[in-house]
Amino acid sequence: MVSFTLPEEVERIRDMTRDFARTEIRPAGAEIDRISDPEAAYTSDRMRKVLAGAYELGFHKLGLPKEVGGVGAPEMTSIIVQEELAVGDAGLASHLLVAPMIAGISAGAKDRHPFYKEYLEAFVEDTKGVHSGAWAVTEPHHGSDLFQFGQPDIHMEATATKDGDEYVVNGQKSAFVSNGWMADAILLMVNHDPSQGMEGTITFAIPGNLPGITRGKPLNKLGLRGLNQAEIYFDNVRIPPEFVMLPPGAAYRMMLERIGTGGNTAVGALAVGVARAAYEEALAYAKERVQGGRRICEHDTVKLKLFDAYRQIEAARALLWKSSWLISTGRPHLPTAMAARTMASDMAMRVTAEMVQVFGGYGISKEHPVEKFYRDAKLLQIMDGTNELVSLKAADQLLAE
Ligand SMILES: Cc1cc2nc3c(=O)[nH]c(=O)nc-3n(C[C@H](O)[C@H](O)[C@H](O)COP(=O)(O)OP(=O)(O)OC[C@H]3O[C@@H](n4cnc5c(N)ncnc54)[C@H](O)[C@@H]3O)c2cc1C
Repeated sequence: MVSFTLPEEVERIRDMTRDFARTEIRPAGAEIDRISDPEAAYTSDRMRKVLAGAYELGFHKLGLPKEVGGVGAPEMTSIIVQEELAVGDAGLASHLLVAPMIAGISAGAKDRHPFYKEYLEAFVEDTKGVHSGAWAVTEPHHGSDLFQFGQPDIHMEATATKDGDEYVVNGQKSAFVSNGWMADAILLMVNHDPSQGMEGTITFAIPGNLPGITRGKPLNKLGLRGLNQAEIYFDNVRIPPEFVMLPPGAAYRMMLERIGTGGNTAVGALAVGVARAAYEEALAYAKERVQGGRRICEHDTVKLKLFDAYRQIEAARALLWKSSWLISTGRPHLPTAMAARTMASDMAMRVTAEMVQVFGGYGISKEHPVEKFYRDAKLLQIMDGTNELVSLKAADQLLAE
């Protein structure tokens, strides 16, 4: 039987996260958002303190298996936690979402190279928030075409060429790499065999400080300002063969689809969180603000907006939970994940805009947090692929089933 009842343990984690998001993440996210220089924001005491607090509570290792020192939370719990963190601040929630990227891989690669064992141990024991991973795939001229298979003239421009046993990487990844400025370990996808087009992509999991790796300035952007994003440059970076995670060919496609299923579901959870944050603020405001002799929540125009937001959030979450349930039960389904993510992020854009409207003129003021939620929501329609391209991929996948 389908059930929406959460186990007591999950409710406990949800409530603890909700509390942390309200008392720590929300104020920290708001303060970081207001720092105009991103480099100053990401090196600020506020950033250090909030990451340390989150790592101390174990949010960075939530999905890592218990055997390697993680919390071992199932997919469903992670999705619930991501929503709660994003109610606090979706930028910081994004940081925590991407952070375990390499630690997760290291758990299965401990015997390949000493780096993985050492990195994993340092990551799970981290209580200061210093370790984080990144996924570097998008390039200045390649973002939306990552799923464009079978066309030899479309491939990434960053290259990995073989020199003896090692690979030598040259090129750059775009300014959008999440955690790209702070990450100390990178999942890197570059071209190795141009004759295979995008499927000629090889995947490495590497330390972020290999000689020849440099970073651009952190991106100064519209929203999700708690998430550091930056270019990563590779200048004759030598990578030993033990760091190859997947060879070119069908493996690239498989990896992209796997990341797409988990990633899209998680981005959807961030979107539901942002929409809920805006809805909760607008609801509280509408119960206080008096116009025309009545609280504005008693005016039909506002009442209907609030109900519309409520039903859209509930519907988006239900689809996300289905995608997450499919992943948990070993039947990950990319089109469901993509449906959940596109629906949730489009919904977040609509709902945050309408909640600004509920605030009237005060909605555009930085005195209230809704203008920030509106800015944050926009990025979620682009993160890890634009909603248009994600929808096209999902449609192709459905036709092929
Ligand atoms: C918040 C955020 C986080 C991100 N995190 C990461 C990360 O961790 N790692 C990483 O590598 N990248 C990351 N990205 C990059 C992201 O994946 C790309 O921004 C996205 O894939 C779009 O690529 P682009 O920016 O180059 O846009 P373009 O590809 O230049 O697209 C521009 C416009 O053209 C449209 N378009 C492009 N091609 C087609 C086509 N074939 N058919 C129809 N329409 C098309 C697009 O829909 C879009 O509207 C992130 C981006 C954001 C916003």
